[in-house]
Amino acid sequence: MSRKIGILGGTFNPIHYGHLAAAEEVRGRLKLDRVLFIPSFQPPHKRENNVPSAAYRMEMVRLATADNQSFDPSDIEIKRGGRSYTIDTIEALRGSYPGIELYFITGLDSFLEIQTWNQWERLLTLCTFVVLSRPGYQFTDLLKIDFMLPAQDQVMKLDRGELVHVDFRAGAWNVYLELIPLYDISSTDIRTRVKEGRSIKYLLPEAVETYIIKHKLYA
Ligand code: ATP
Ligand code: MG
Repeated sequence: MSRKIGILGGTFNPIHYGHLAAAEEVRGRLKLDRVLFIPSFQPPHKRENNVPSAAYRMEMVRLATADNQSFDPSDIEIKRGGRSYTIDTIEALRGSYPGIELYFITGLDSFLEIQTWNQWERLLTLCTFVVLSRPGYQFTDLLKIDFMLPAQDQVMKLDRGELVHVDFRAGAWNVYLELIPLYDISSTDIRTRVKEGRSIKYLLPEAVETYIIKHKLYA
């Protein structure tokens, strides 16, 4: 196993170019050896009906990542079953591959909830968090999180476009903030479009679009 591994967790309901472009940008900037895409089995924070079975979401992740040699789909959370807590996934990966450096990639929207995550304080000691810009959110939103307050000047510079990368340290915690090209794409919007019969072309890989149509997902 290689040394620097990025992890993108999500519901991937469905995976789209926002996920893929963000992961590729981070891979390049951080010189990651690989990026694992890990669909959750049961997302602890989502109470949606109509989440297709994990097998469909996993297959869409497989289709979407097949043409990138550095991207690996992982069914570690689906195999584990139950609520998918990131702490369990990170510990399992560290156990299987001693010595690797783990970078957990999230959008700003997810990271804003970090203090609700299971064992979040310990989780922050086990991997570097990589927090990405996302349309509708600002880095200054992070100042709602008390431990981010010392980053005030830097988050303001990110929002103004004067910086694209910040390496924030608080004790044993290391959080990278990355201003990346924005893709105004969300799975929620894609599901709505399918339901309303509108096009989802160019929002996700063609193979995933074909799969959604074939299996009548979100219709
Ligand atoms: P939903 O609308 O169902 O919540 P989503 O588009 O937010 O779907 P998720 O599976 O929830 O997709 O996202 C997984 C991770 O990818 C989260 O950390 C999220 O913040 C990040 N992410 C998703 N879309 C983007 C995007 N367009 N730009 C940056 N980060 C994104
Ligand atoms: Mg989301």
